[in-house]
Amino acid sequence: MSDAFGDAVRILSGSSRILAFTGAGISTESGIPDFRGPDGLWTKVDPEDFTISRYLANPELRRRGWRMHLEGRLWGARAQIEPNPGHHALVDLWRAGRLAGCVTQNIDGLHHKAGLPDAAVAELHGNVREVRCLDCDERWPTEEVLQRVEAGEEEPRCGSCGGIVKTMTVMFGEELPSGVLERAWVMAAAADAVVAIGSTLGVWPAAEIPFAAAKQGRPLVIINRGATEMDGLASVRIEGAAGVVLPALIDEILGNERPPRPTVPA
Ligand code: NAD
Ligand code: ZN
Repeated sequence: MSDAFGDAVRILSGSSRILAFTGAGISTESGIPDFRGPDGLWTKVDPEDFTISRYLANPELRRRGWRMHLEGRLWGARAQIEPNPGHHALVDLWRAGRLAGCVTQNIDGLHHKAGLPDAAVAELHGNVREVRCLDCDERWPTEEVLQRVEAGEEEPRCGSCGGIVKTMTVMFGEELPSGVLERAWVMAAAADAVVAIGSTLGVWPAAEIPFAAAKQGRPLVIINRGATEMDGLASVRIEGAAGVVLPALIDEILGNERPPRPTVPA
């Protein structure tokens, strides 16, 4: 492996609590496109369709969104997606007691599906597991709402107040879910090193977490395909696929410490 890999092993072996900061790139090997990568969604759809103002103003956009969820064409909800070796490696780190937390920009739920408990994950941009009424804040499991779409409601509304409903994912122009940024800062404060995986580190305020840690002098290891906005701040940068580099790195760091993975029933 490269010198960068050896440097990353040395840096992270000396760390007792590592913060993982993950972006869309950790999930591309599970079949979910990222936004800003070379084959990212931005090369195919209009980013404006992901703004809250357009969602509120355009019923056709909402109908299309529900249809896409129903057909499994949007990540999460009914899409048949599975965590990949990158997600599993972070679970190994957590089982070994070496993960301060996983702060993610992803909404696909794959860190949970891989086995990280709620307490170990801060989903900065929300998730697709639940739907929320934008007027009265009532909530339902997404699956329940999709069953209504399946039964013929093209654009399901809130049963209590008639308000517009939406998955609990953060669109451009929306606030982050309350409390989640605070939880992410608590995880960051407990960490003595950060590893950022599959993110351009260019979406704020999320990117402030690795930025602040690096500015405070904690080592920042970046694993990404392509440049990121914090390459200049990184202690080391590994160019490569998250699903290959991360498991290799974590295996090296844990060595004999690596706890056996439980067998998952087929
Ligand atoms: P991004 O799209 O800005 O950047 C992803 C980066 O990962 C790119 O530099 C890309 O080249 C790199 N990459 C892609 N595949 C990789 C791989 N296998 N290994 C290593 N690197 C890889 O992602 P972002 O910075 O996370 O921002 C996009 C925003 O959109 C996020 O904030 C998130 O909320 C949302 N998003 C989420 C998902 C998801 O939940 N899986 C998917 C797309 C977008
Ligand atoms: Zn309501």
